[in-house]
Amino acid sequence: MPPSRSLFGIVSLAIMGVLLFMMFNTSGRGAKVNLEQFVTYAKNAQLEEGSVVIHSNSVVARTSMTTPDGRPPGPIYVPFNSATRDNTVKTVAEVTKNKYKAEEDSLAPTLLMFLGLPLLMIMLVWFLISRGLRSAGGAGGVLGNFGKSRHRTLNKEMTGVTFSDVAGIDEAKDEVQEIIEFLKNPKKFTKLGGRIPRGVLLVGEPGCGKTLLAKAIAGEADVPFFSISGSDFVEMFVGVGASRVRDLFKQAKDSAPCIIFLDEIDAVGRRRGSGFSSGGHDEREQTLNAILVEMDGFAPADGVIVIAATNRADVLDPALVRPGRFDRQVVVPLPDLKGRLEILRVHAKKVKLADDVDLEKVARGTATFSGADLAAIINEAAIGATMANKDAIEHTDLEEARDKIKFGRSKRSRIREKDENRLVAYHEAGHAVLQVLLKDCDPLHKVTIIPRGNFGGATFSLPAKDRTGYAQRWLSATIRMACGGRLAEERVSGDVTSGAQQDILQVTNIARAMVMEWGMSPRLGFVRYAPIDSKESFLGERDFSNETARLIDEEVRRIVDEAYADARRMLDEHWPQVEAVAEALLKYETLSAEEVERLMRGETISKPSASDQIRAEERRRNLQQVVEQLDKSQTELPPGASAATA
Ligand code: ADP
Ligand code: ZN
Repeated sequence: MPPSRSLFGIVSLAIMGVLLFMMFNTSGRGAKVNLEQFVTYAKNAQLEEGSVVIHSNSVVARTSMTTPDGRPPGPIYVPFNSATRDNTVKTVAEVTKNKYKAEEDSLAPTLLMFLGLPLLMIMLVWFLISRGLRSAGGAGGVLGNFGKSRHRTLNKEMTGVTFSDVAGIDEAKDEVQEIIEFLKNPKKFTKLGGRIPRGVLLVGEPGCGKTLLAKAIAGEADVPFFSISGSDFVEMFVGVGASRVRDLFKQAKDSAPCIIFLDEIDAVGRRRGSGFSSGGHDEREQTLNAILVEMDGFAPADGVIVIAATNRADVLDPALVRPGRFDRQVVVPLPDLKGRLEILRVHAKKVKLADDVDLEKVARGTATFSGADLAAIINEAAIGATMANKDAIEHTDLEEARDKIKFGRSKRSRIREKDENRLVAYHEAGHAVLQVLLKDCDPLHKVTIIPRGNFGGATFSLPAKDRTGYAQRWLSATIRMACGGRLAEERVSGDVTSGAQQDILQVTNIARAMVMEWGMSPRLGFVRYAPIDSKESFLGERDFSNETARLIDEEVRRIVDEAYADARRMLDEHWPQVEAVAEALLKYETLSAEEVERLMRGETISKPSASDQIRAEERRRNLQQVVEQLDKSQTELPPGASAATA
């Protein structure tokens, strides 16, 4: 650490200390009373023996019992100024019969206040200027070590977090399993020639457990965990972020195998060269470049895994997600019903719950809550129960905490109402049913109404293979599938929503490309019409006639309209199936492809849903009550009557 910095630290600490002391000192004087009250206390012998002290601007004393005006025993003071000083001192001397101490206040705190504050300001200004100088003048100089030494934002820790602390995101856990194996024994892996990703991108809403998952990976593999947040990189002065990156990777390599966790990677990793360049822009770009260079610079055998987290994978610079960098994406979704129950259980282990607590009920009432929200519910409930002097958290505490958090959240994020949920369910069911019906589509993987990013829900497909080109049949089927959401919405509610925005975009893009790039429109033939848009040049001018432009528009419209009509026909034919899937979605939130297919065959699925369990429980309880009443009535009524009841 450069001497200037440690000096700065010590001086500012000292001054802070003195200021704090002074603050405490004043508040320690106790309750303010006027001179008459003081005289009354003294006359009633309610002042502690020998506690009266006259300071430079106040008289301080302690009352020894509760005073007639209801003041509890404790310190009191009577302020005076230069005008009232003589009178006050005289009165005090009289009523205490001269049993008081006179004490001049030490000048030191006041002096420090007057000298120290300006000194602190000067040092602060000097500190800021020297930082600016350093970054402007490049490396070297007295403060040349600056970027290196400032690592308060970088944490190295052995996390001790394990997979048992992470609940409800089993798929993500599965996907990172091999990374743990690798970290446990990097040599073994590289010997066999296995390709381990250097970088893993965790994508998910805030609070879904990305940090937690990264920590758990480190904990499971028992390796150190270095973490730094993207927003920490974005410094005011150019060059610091980049030098921190270099330093971070160097430190990490020294303690390999280990994990580097870059939180909020989008803060530095946004697409470059788009938009206007602002002050922080260059800094961002330099930092991003440093990350890219460092990631290219180490070999897989080094045993360093870089995990980055973001909630917007779509805004990241393509360079970041290129092979050899963050080429593996793991989605950390909002938890579904079952996941929420598991997360609640994990966090409930740390607190004491009363018998009446029904976590399943809480899980049911917390759709669209993240893991962090659920953890907060337990925490809030614990605080609430403590405030109410309860021995354990009761169910009402949880309900109250949920409403509190829901209310707090609803301002910033979408809480869906029942009707909206229904629309999303039908929208996704429309997609899913078509995806199953259309044999040329990618097979359905799963469908969910749990929101992710800007999407209300999602229907996932499982491509049989990585696609390098598109067949026309696949494209036609995909367009039809994309139309299904809006159509189902419209049919169930008679209204449409903006939820189909992405679908419309996808359909338009495909149809335009079919016509303008892929020669799939007979009327326009085997010709390219799309502008040439590459890194080097943008030939935005169209080189075809107005006549052709109209033809293109017509063809795009025709392709889409045909698909839309087709999709409508299919949905009309299979509407009961759409209904079955939508209702199941409302109940289970997420359905696998297999479950969708069973529903479409008219079968019911008997997934043990949390709400089913709750209902079964209630039924059992009711039954028990009936039986008990029967027992009672049997003892009270003659045998004939009871037989009739049974
Ligand atoms: P992110 O990094 O995605 O914003 P965090 O990992 O920081 O979210 O999550 C914040 C907190 O929320 C965690 O410390 C944990 O207490 C709780 N949490 C979030 N997701 C889960 C989960 N899947 N299981 C258990 N706890 C979770
Ligand atoms: Zn859709």
